[in-house]
Amino acid sequence: MDAIGFVIVASGQGTRFAAAVPKQFVLLGGRPLMSWSVSAALAHPATRACVIVCPPGQEDDVREVLGPMFGDRRVTLCAGGAQRVDSVRAGVRQMVEIDASIRHVMIHDAARPGLDGPTIDSLVEALAAAHGAAPALPLADALKRRLPAGGVTAVSRADICRVQTPQAFQLAAYVRALEAWPEGMPADDDLTIAEAAGLRLALVQGRETLDKVTYPADLRRLQDLLMPSSSLPPLTDVRTGHGIDVHGFCEGDAVTLAGIRIPHIARLEGHSDADAAWHALTDAILGAASLGDIGDHFPPTDPQWKDADSAVFLKAALDLSVRSGWTLLHADLTLICEAPRIKPHRRSMREATATLLGLSLDRVSIKATTTEGLGFLGRREGIGAMATATVGRR
Ligand code: MG
Repeated sequence: MDAIGFVIVASGQGTRFAAAVPKQFVLLGGRPLMSWSVSAALAHPATRACVIVCPPGQEDDVREVLGPMFGDRRVTLCAGGAQRVDSVRAGVRQMVEIDASIRHVMIHDAARPGLDGPTIDSLVEALAAAHGAAPALPLADALKRRLPAGGVTAVSRADICRVQTPQAFQLAAYVRALEAWPEGMPADDDLTIAEAAGLRLALVQGRETLDKVTYPADLRRLQDLLMPSSSLPPLTDVRTGHGIDVHGFCEGDAVTLAGIRIPHIARLEGHSDADAAWHALTDAILGAASLGDIGDHFPPTDPQWKDADSAVFLKAALDLSVRSGWTLLHADLTLICEAPRIKPHRRSMREATATLLGLSLDRVSIKATTTEGLGFLGRREGIGAMATATVGRR
């Protein structure tokens, strides 16, 4: 098979994703989103180079999240440009310098974690008869066009499809197409640039797993598709950890529990946002990996954690456990209070926790109970939380 080079574009700003970190760094199945594509590209026997294009200034972050992958000499980093096409130009140029024997280039979005060998093979096959090829799927929904004067008109979807990545090209032809594309003009995708240069294009069978992560819900859907519970590798070392936290009420009008703000007649007192649920879970994850407790890593005496978002603590505990080789498998939380009512917020708490931890929803459980009016929690003096985390490694 002819040599292949990958250009993986991670230069989007991910504004629709609205996460604390750029989209390509959020976790899917305990691994940063972009690492899924990079490892799939490297696993293909014909791959000679994999250039990751990231926004200038993000190089160190990319190096850190991809860690050991940079031990593979085929992996290099490249700073992107203002437009996607500028990023692709820079990546392709670098790829050609790395290995002059490459015949086919595959341009792939870092936010599409479901890259797989059979898709790469079918694209290479299509390049025997075309200059460029991409995976495509039919549309399920009816299509309408908005009319300038108001109203809508039907659009036939018979010959319409949605196109995914990787978009594969005969390298020499695509380099010419990129050179001919006007400087500064945006392009929706790479087929657009190839089409403008008159290249012959083909479509191959797309897959739902190749869909892009644009919104948090996409992440959960792809997680369920890419890592159904049954597909976990056999784990020989499985451990559990537990955590407990209590915060008392003080004057205020809302509490934050598992990342969700719930209106209440008081708030929880604490140095950070006093999210007892995520504090207990942070301790449970640290406990499962035998990495100390939340106070060791985030001392309440340290002013930098004043009013901190507890997502920072939980994410840091997860990162520490991942670096020690653990995969978080499951989190179970119990909130103990007489008020506010937890049940109406359980679903959003589970979703917020699952998204932050890179888990599918079925791996996050949230329960609530009271103490039947007994003790300090029964007297409505505060809220308690207990958490159990299960981690595993091979
Ligand atoms: Mg606490």
